[in-house]
Amino acid sequence: MKKLMTLAILMVALNSFASQDSIFIRKIYDEALVSGQCYENLRSLCKDVGARITGSAEAKMAIKWGHDLLSSYGFDNVYLQEIKVPHWERGTTEAGWMLNEQKEMLKMNILALGGSVGTEGLLEGEIILVESVEDLEKVGKEKIKGKIVFFNKPFDQTQINTFKAYGACANQRWEGATKAALYDAKAVIIRSLAQSTDEHAHTGSMHYEEGVMQIPAAAISTVDADRMLEWLQKGKVYVKMEMDCRYYADETSYNVIAEMTGNEDDKIITFGGHLDSWDVGEGAHDDGAGIVHSIEAIRILHKLNYFNNHTLRCVLFMNEENGNFGGKYYAEIATENNEKHICAIESDRGGFLPIGFDIQGTPEQVELVRQFKDLLFDFELYKFEPGYSGVDIRPLLNHYPEMLQLGMVINSQEYFDYHHAETDVFESVNKRELELGSAAMAAIIYLMDKTL
Ligand SMILES: [Zn+2]
Repeated sequence: MKKLMTLAILMVALNSFASQDSIFIRKIYDEALVSGQCYENLRSLCKDVGARITGSAEAKMAIKWGHDLLSSYGFDNVYLQEIKVPHWERGTTEAGWMLNEQKEMLKMNILALGGSVGTEGLLEGEIILVESVEDLEKVGKEKIKGKIVFFNKPFDQTQINTFKAYGACANQRWEGATKAALYDAKAVIIRSLAQSTDEHAHTGSMHYEEGVMQIPAAAISTVDADRMLEWLQKGKVYVKMEMDCRYYADETSYNVIAEMTGNEDDKIITFGGHLDSWDVGEGAHDDGAGIVHSIEAIRILHKLNYFNNHTLRCVLFMNEENGNFGGKYYAEIATENNEKHICAIESDRGGFLPIGFDIQGTPEQVELVRQFKDLLFDFELYKFEPGYSGVDIRPLLNHYPEMLQLGMVINSQEYFDYHHAETDVFESVNKRELELGSAAMAAIIYLMDKTL
């Protein structure tokens, strides 16, 4: 009997903890959905600043924008963390045309890949189709030498998680040029890493390898890629293209940081997204959304007078897109300062409907997060699977292998319509979905702060 009584008391106590949590999370959502500021903040970042590639004047403006905004909310500590970043510029908008043996000619929608060398004037050449980087060997040097390689690996439309479809063809962008150069190609054109068939070219980072000839690399729209494929079935196809992109000297830049100091200890929970974007569109989904999610999360916790155990640190990382030096420096400086990092959370999958969190950690850490599944189900967060956290926070794991990392999972169906393209603008973000993302971020930070 006594045992049963104890059990009953324990159950009541546990329930009341759970209901305290659900009451507080309810308050978070109410604030985000009724008095939220993330949508206006995103408008301001997209329209008052705009695209903000590392090293640009707009990136500097974005740093000031973030610092000013965070300072206006009255946190304990708002500061800039100095870092060194690469500086690549597109220069004049690229131009490209394709021609066939039937004397047809079409202007292509083309964008240099980030990090590419320019063409030094007009570059002309015959196209050789290579379905994927893996097929270079099959096609062989004889056929590739002196030509422009066209990598045409499309998204696998049967993949439900579009990030997996993206991941499966991303190497044609990242290493296509350096691999094709080994077969004496003169340039590389890739099919844009996009879900749908549309007119927009999607840029993104690429790299060269030491000792390998650096050849220009560009993406063309999926419509142009399909047309090129059609023409190739009828005969030879030629391309003329011009790009004057190039690297400049490395520059000083900054991560922007705001903190609510821990009341119980000096352990740190980091959360954030990346402040830089590509230089086309407005970087609304990638990653303006993650930036305003994170700023809104700390604003809400502060506004609700949340008494945090650990230090809650909101970080607007610089340079995720082409080098990740913000994330790398952040992790290095954390180790140098002997900081105690226990958890990091990233939002970098767009401003669409949040559905859960990927958990990067041990099986015990996965279970620890999953205990909140029922609680969060009411807020339509239901996906809590082992997975990848985020590019900016990932370097922390090299220094803190024991820490728990989370990546906000967002309905991914539309993300690659906008990713790294001129279509990634403020108007492509839905206010309600963006606000739900901010609330989800604040809720998980609150639960981790209470639990870890
Ligand atoms: Zn991103």
